[in-house]
Order: sequence, then structure tokens, then C-alpha cells
Amino acid sequence: MTGIAAASFFSNICRFGGCGLHFESLAELIVHIEDNHIGKH
Ligand SMILES: [Zn+2]
Repeated sequence: MTGIAAASFFSNICRFGGCGLHFESLAELIVHIEDNHIGKH
């Protein structure tokens, strides 16, 4: 197990429909999901 693998494990990546955007924090990821994947219809 390398440092890069560990960092990858803990990174916050949006997995909605192959979106794939990366965020520095889980809070930012949650806001993105609410605004872009849940809030709009
Ligand atoms: Zn997304």
C-alpha cells in the first residue's frame, strides 16, 4: 500500500452518473451533490 493509494481511498469523488468531480472536503462534495444531482429536476 502506497501513500498515493491511501490518498485515493480518502479522496472525495462524486460518483453520481460518472460525474467524477473531486472535492477537497466531504462537505464540498455534499453541497455539489445537493446542488447538481438532487436539488434540480
Ligand atoms: Zn457530481
